[in-house]
Amino acid sequence: MSDHNRSLGVHTTAIHAGESPDPATGAIVPPIYLATTFHMGTAENGAAIFAGEKDAYVYSRWSNPTVAAFERKAAALEHAEDAIAASSGMAAIASAVLTVVKAGDHIVSANAIYPSTRHLMATQLGSLGIDTTFVDATDPANVERAIRPSTKLVYLESPGNPLLALSDLEAIGRMARAGGLTTICDNTFASPVNQRPLDLGIDVVVHSATKYFCGHGDAVGGLVAGRASFIRECRTEPLRYYGGIMAPFTAYLMLRGTTTLPLRVERHNASAMRIAQWLEGQPAVARVLYPGLPSHPQHALAKRQMTGGFGGMVCFELTGGVGAGARLLNAVRICSLATSLGDARSLISHPASTTHSVLTREARLEQGVTDGLVRLSVGLEDVEDLIADLEAGLNVQ
Ligand code: PLP
Repeated sequence: MSDHNRSLGVHTTAIHAGESPDPATGAIVPPIYLATTFHMGTAENGAAIFAGEKDAYVYSRWSNPTVAAFERKAAALEHAEDAIAASSGMAAIASAVLTVVKAGDHIVSANAIYPSTRHLMATQLGSLGIDTTFVDATDPANVERAIRPSTKLVYLESPGNPLLALSDLEAIGRMARAGGLTTICDNTFASPVNQRPLDLGIDVVVHSATKYFCGHGDAVGGLVAGRASFIRECRTEPLRYYGGIMAPFTAYLMLRGTTTLPLRVERHNASAMRIAQWLEGQPAVARVLYPGLPSHPQHALAKRQMTGGFGGMVCFELTGGVGAGARLLNAVRICSLATSLGDARSLISHPASTTHSVLTREARLEQGVTDGLVRLSVGLEDVEDLIADLEAGLNVQ
């Protein structure tokens, strides 16, 4: 006899959560509701909706049925009570952070994070009177030491972009909660298939949904997932008034992508592991960074908190430095020389001259982003083809 109360597996959740046949037509794919506004029926009903006595779609900057379907699916995958879909990862991060901090407040943030997030905190939030201390969050003691009376938020990204450094989410979540602080973790690199920060005691998860959720490199979006009370505040304040909402057509692409998220991530994991192991044996490669390798300094932590797998991102440094990196990037034919990640296509990039060029060389080196570091987002191609492509590129040296 089937047990309908058992919790569903990740593939079933990715396919079915948040969706039900369209009540008007029975369509099994959620329709794209492009309407900006919704009929309120009667004046009395309209007044009740605006008074907050009735729940209804009113205006698509507040909520939209197609976007809501994606939000329910993402929330189910992250084991969250609710979620918000935003216009980009940065809109999601800004909305989540501004739900927690106001002028005069202080943030403790991991230092090895996506550089635009770091820029947002150091520059944009700094100009609003919100101070951030960046610490090496691979050691929870560094986070604890940086906490001040005005600290409201601990911000983490694990694995971090691009060096794949991990933070101990359980230890930092416990410590922050004891001090009454909110924790936010960017889970873009892992995806909820590999890691669920909320299950480990983190309060809020953010994503660049542009990456693995979308999966096909054709839509920009973001996510915030957490407790219903947090999501309500985020939706009715920063999201509504800064206006960084997801468009319905983007939500359709995200719903379509997310249906196969676990299937894709399983393959990203397996191919990245093969490539990382292969790279470790190449004389032209000085070091490989991948949480699934025993040589990764936090491999034991990765095994504990990345229970679904170690992800599709691999970093490596060539013995020949920056010149060797340039020759590799110019020689590969299957891996595309492009920024971003989480695509079906393998994407190869050089952080020092692209994503991290916003930083000074000193700041970049302080984060471990050396001149010759290469970042590979392992795609869904045949892994033997990818290895042959990289091998040909390394042989050009
Ligand atoms: N977080 C991480 C880890 C990222 O790598 C990125 C973008 O590359 C972002 C956030 C920002 O996302 P978006 O480009 O969708 O705004």
